[in-house]
Amino acid sequence: MTPTFIQELGAIVGESGLVTAADELRTYECDGLTNFRVIPSAVVLPKTADQVRRVVQLCARDHVAFVARGSGTGLSGGALPVEGGIVISLARMNRILDVDIPNARVTVEPGVINASVTQQVAPYGYFYAPDPSSYSVCSIGGNVAENSGGAHCLKYGFTTTHVLGLEVVLPDGSVAQFGGATLDAPGYDLTGVFVGSEGTLGVVTKAVLRIMKRPEAVQTLLAAFDTTYAAGAAVSDIIASGVLPAAIEMMDELAIQAAEAAVHANYPACGGLLLVELDGPQAEVDLLMSQVHEICMRQGSWEVRVAHTEADRATIWKGRRAAFAAMGRISPNYIVQDGVIPRTALPQVMDEIARMSKEVGLRVANVFHAGDGNLHPLVLYDRKIEGQEQIAEALSGEILRLCIRAGGSITGEHGVGEEKKMFMSEMFAEPDLDTMQLVRCAFDPESIANPGKLFPRTRLCGEKQGPYEPHPLEVAGIAQFF
Ligand SMILES: Cc1cc2nc3c(=O)[nH]c(=O)nc-3n(C[C@H](O)[C@H](O)[C@H](O)COP(=O)(O)OP(=O)(O)OC[C@H]3O[C@@H](n4cnc5c(N)ncnc54)[C@H](O)[C@@H]3O)c2cc1C
Repeated sequence: MTPTFIQELGAIVGESGLVTAADELRTYECDGLTNFRVIPSAVVLPKTADQVRRVVQLCARDHVAFVARGSGTGLSGGALPVEGGIVISLARMNRILDVDIPNARVTVEPGVINASVTQQVAPYGYFYAPDPSSYSVCSIGGNVAENSGGAHCLKYGFTTTHVLGLEVVLPDGSVAQFGGATLDAPGYDLTGVFVGSEGTLGVVTKAVLRIMKRPEAVQTLLAAFDTTYAAGAAVSDIIASGVLPAAIEMMDELAIQAAEAAVHANYPACGGLLLVELDGPQAEVDLLMSQVHEICMRQGSWEVRVAHTEADRATIWKGRRAAFAAMGRISPNYIVQDGVIPRTALPQVMDEIARMSKEVGLRVANVFHAGDGNLHPLVLYDRKIEGQEQIAEALSGEILRLCIRAGGSITGEHGVGEEKKMFMSEMFAEPDLDTMQLVRCAFDPESIANPGKLFPRTRLCGEKQGPYEPHPLEVAGIAQFF
């Protein structure tokens, strides 16, 4: 990157909005997936959409790769910088621009923190439904790019259901508006294409979000089972009975131990814990809660607690929300996996994960959005023990393959990013991937927006799957990748 380019960046974002010092650049070397690290050549922190546009225009002019970054909590390496490229941090674009209660929508800049949206509209009796466990720190821009989910997305839908419109800076530096304040705009659903595109189609600079009226009543139940198999069977029965809870979360024994050690949620010590939340009119919630209670007992639950106060509810959720971070209490290192299976396959898949974990001798804790069949196996290991990290990575890959075989997917909400791109060709056929590339190239023909993410790199004949290793022809200087 030339000094002139850096100077031009500085002229756009000002001295305080440009990071070039080696030690400060380290802050941006990874996201929540810390085993992939790249130090960017520069980081810019624009304050306006116009600054983003001018920065991207410079990148387009000089073919410099850029990676948009929200809060850096992503778990698939989506915000991992690109060698020789820049990072565009949206952290300073954190204003709520408009709150329109009569039309139930809010317009925000991308750096706004998820929880701030609900905080802003709560006094009017509204909330923003998508609630990743990281909701107190992750940004709306990151949520849009990852199509993030959360405990309450079972009933209310993922981020994509709640984004009405977007303002984006495309990779050529032009500004486009997709969707808008009204529902169902004519033409292609480009808002839908952009949501979940993991920063590969451009930079979100504004989002119009749908907010929802708070339900009259919310009740949360906690049920203890001997095994995740029994808890999984209760999940299937609850959904099959026609009840649609706002959330159904499951934790296994290890996850409970870790959460207890971290936040003392007073969970019962058991093999499988279900957390079921119902919301709606009071009479409906009372009736359905008694049905859920009965189903849990029928499937062998030996302790059922219903939270009666807001404080009890908060304590129940505290343990679940802290579960990932709490793993540090029971293991020096861990890999958070994210796969999806049909929820009817839950009991069998849980058993198979337990068998695989035993076979390789590594513990796997499980915390997940059971209603969506969205698993989060946490593979526990110790990096200091030689070879254990590789075993953990291999096991976590095998768990993803298990999800594919069960008719599911390699990611439920954390995205593909850097981490899972090599699994894309196990999940999709070549024509599927080619079609996705056509979409990507329509937005970014020069491949400067978060290049190298999401798609598997084309393999040469005879090249192995897995992390990139130079092909013998490349090593011999006969073939070259460019
Ligand atoms: C403890 C913990 C719990 C979590 N729980 C959940 C959960 O329950 N559900 C869930 O879905 N995820 C969860 N996550 C993952 C993560 O929080 C989400 O993916 C979140 O949406 C990332 O937001 P971010 O602002 O941190 O984005 P970043 O990590 O900064 O970026 C994520 C991706 O979005 C792109 N991006 C960021 N901003 C923009 C923008 N303005 N325009 C275009 N692209 C952009 C980046 O390039 C990158 O590809 C969890 C993470 C942690 C650490």
